[in-house]
Amino acid sequence: MSEPAPSDNAASGTIAFLGLGHMGGPMAANLIKAGHNVTGYDPVPAAVEAARAHGVPMAGSAAEAVAGAAVVLTMLPSGQHVLDAYRGVGGEPGLLSVAAPDTMFLDCSTINVEEAREAAAIALDAGHRSVDAPVSGGVVGAEAGTLTFMVGALPEDFEAVKPLLELMGKRVVHCGEHGAGQAAKVCNNMILGVSMIAVSEAFVLGEKLGLTHQALFDVAANASGQCWALTTNCPVPGPVPTSPANRDYQPGFAGALMAKDLRLALNALESTGVAAQMGPLASKIYDEFAAGAGAGRDFSGIITDIRDRSAT
Ligand code: NAD
Repeated sequence: MSEPAPSDNAASGTIAFLGLGHMGGPMAANLIKAGHNVTGYDPVPAAVEAARAHGVPMAGSAAEAVAGAAVVLTMLPSGQHVLDAYRGVGGEPGLLSVAAPDTMFLDCSTINVEEAREAAAIALDAGHRSVDAPVSGGVVGAEAGTLTFMVGALPEDFEAVKPLLELMGKRVVHCGEHGAGQAAKVCNNMILGVSMIAVSEAFVLGEKLGLTHQALFDVAANASGQCWALTTNCPVPGPVPTSPANRDYQPGFAGALMAKDLRLALNALESTGVAAQMGPLASKIYDEFAAGAGAGRDFSGIITDIRDRSAT
């Protein structure tokens, strides 16, 4: 583990943790378990109660949490939430204006690449430091401290936050400068969304052709069809006993989150002019899935939609 520069208190000072939801709650608890001084803030009373139950001291306002903090860690629903919190909205002071000079703004939310670059630009303009560090690994990874962090940061800022991220995750990858963490996340999740649809369509085709799930799995898992969607999150019950398909598609990774991440991928494809076909189609398919019961089901439940549409 690399040590931050001796004068750098980003890895040792107080952490203001904003957004104590499904992910932020357990992440903050892991920082506290490791001995860090954390002050949380969340506007939703249920999140406040849950965080307190996990031992996270909670402030009455974002400004109160941020006062005196060396790091402002955000784990919020969207990029608009992050930018609003940074700038201030509805008469509330923006965090950038409340924080002490040279505060480390560490955003772990999943947001648009452009929004991440904008957040970094306004943080730097206000005399602060900025890191985007979205995660994969879900609530299970947040609780176990086994998340993967994809980090966009200047090299010295990456070194400063790495020890903190290692307390919440098992893999911390420096992907490049501001926005590169979000770029890596959006590319990875586009692969995941597209590959889950491909695996699901293959299983439904196998059913129609008279193949058992196990036979198709035994071949594809050891052949060129091998991928995470097949071998870890297998969309049919049986071959991978731990996959959500074995518990009626309880998430896991909910359809609403996959739809959100694919919309971010779509935005990135459009803004860069990539002539992609599969990513936009996957976005459309998961938007439809998440508009109904799929929102709260694991994203591998897409196979039931494909099977329903294939009924003759
Ligand atoms: P969540 O909705 O459970 O939590 C977000 C929290 O932020 C809520 O409690 C909300 O009240 C709070 N919040 C909103 N505005 C705020 C503000 N201005 N200040 C302080 N708190 C505020 O969402 P989550 O599942 O914890 O996800 C958080 C982020 O992590 C999202 O960007 C999501 O895409 C990403 N993510 C989630 C998962 C997952 O499996 N849940 C996995 C990877 C990444």
